Amino acid sequence: MLTQYDDLYNRCPMLGHLVAFAYCRSTSGDTPCRKLADCWFQRFPVEEYIRTYFPDQFNADAVSQKGRLMTILEIVKRLQDE
Ligand code: SF4
Repeated sequence: MLTQYDDLYNRCPMLGHLVAFAYCRSTSGDTPCRKLADCWFQRFPVEEYIRTYFPDQFNADAVSQKGRLMTILEIVKRLQDE
């Protein structure tokens, strides 16, 4: 159920105070905050939640993670070539 974790609270690193998960999953109207997985992974299976209710966000994050990894690997390769 989309609202099953709405009453959980966590300290928001961007706002500096407690926020309810209900806020985090709807910060941009119908879309969740981009930090959802980072902030909530210790509280419940948030990746599964995102995959279920926000599949577009999950796919975008996966692409973003791949991009970051490629950047790191490119930097490592450049340093090895120097
Ligand atoms: S998911 Fe976003 S709004 Fe929620 S605690 Fe994390 S940074 Fe703050």
